[in-house]
Amino acid sequence: MVIFDTVTKKYKENITALEDVSFLVEANEFCFLVGPSGAGKSTIIKLLIREEVPTSGSIFFNDIEVPKLNRRLLPAYRQKLGVVFQDIKLLNTKTLEENIEFALEILDKSNKEITDTTDYLLDLVGLRERRELFPYELSGGEQQRGAIARALANKPDLFIADEPTGNLDSESAKQILQILKTIHANGTTVLVISHDLNLLKDTKERIINIKEGKLESDSKPKEIPTTKKSEPVKEEKVKPEKPDKKEKKKKKNLKISKEFSSLSTSLKKNLKKFAISSPEVLLNITQADLKNMKLSKKENKELESFVKKYLNKKENE
Ligand code: ADP
Repeated sequence: MVIFDTVTKKYKENITALEDVSFLVEANEFCFLVGPSGAGKSTIIKLLIREEVPTSGSIFFNDIEVPKLNRRLLPAYRQKLGVVFQDIKLLNTKTLEENIEFALEILDKSNKEITDTTDYLLDLVGLRERRELFPYELSGGEQQRGAIARALANKPDLFIADEPTGNLDSESAKQILQILKTIHANGTTVLVISHDLNLLKDTKERIINIKEGKLESDSKPKEIPTTKKSEPVKEEKVKPEKPDKKEKKKKKNLKISKEFSSLSTSLKKNLKKFAISSPEVLLNITQADLKNMKLSKKENKELESFVKKYLNKKENE
């Protein structure tokens, strides 16, 4: 599900946050990412959610080459991930219940689905009785559980928690760990960043240890398939090649996927022109490719909504 292949990230010339880091996390794994402060753990998350791009090496999430993903498709991509950051809190102007409902409203869910999913998530994190309270009326552990519930609203394939038990007492930390294990047992891949030794003590789960930007150890290493190796393309440098006659003919004969059949004729024509024959190809085009397509505002919107629907459909398969 997640592949980091010889990933190096330099923030400035002299700051190497990660150096040649490689690991593979399979679907349905539970994995701790540990290491001292400044080791590069958050950088791994930032790269995975495409907040940053690597200096070299490649990153895959399922079949999507993350650094090549264009910005327009990022919201749809990030819906596949549920992330709870240490410092991201629930919205203070909304009750706990409204915080979760809000996340579902953004996803265009029906009223019934919003009510049912909110109830389910509040039960999962044991906060049904606290639903009408505002975040500042909840304890630190309850706020964190609320944030977990909200991050689960879009049924992510991968759930990432950054120091979920930081600043919590051991009882609250235990509850959080139990919730993470339940999420995992329900079929979600879980990646937990932590340096909480209590949490890690006696764990049978996989531990990937990062130290000074390098992979120090991996308790259950997985081999990276060679087919997944590729250098990330620097977006700005991608230039369209002028197609020769042969290529033009090839494009004319190009069959585009049935998945595109609901799209408008003009958008389909554009996708064909740029040899985007299937949703998989579409997910991997870069921002520069998209710019070159010179789509109208309407077509851009249509494309975005198609990707969202496609990713949701895939998720339910
Ligand atoms: P961790 O999450 O393990 O504490 P980080 O990934 O946050 O580590 O940081 C790794 C290194 O990269 C640190 O030396 C940190 O100072 C540096 N770093 C992180 N983000 C930035 C940034 N935006 N600009 C410059 N340096 C950064």
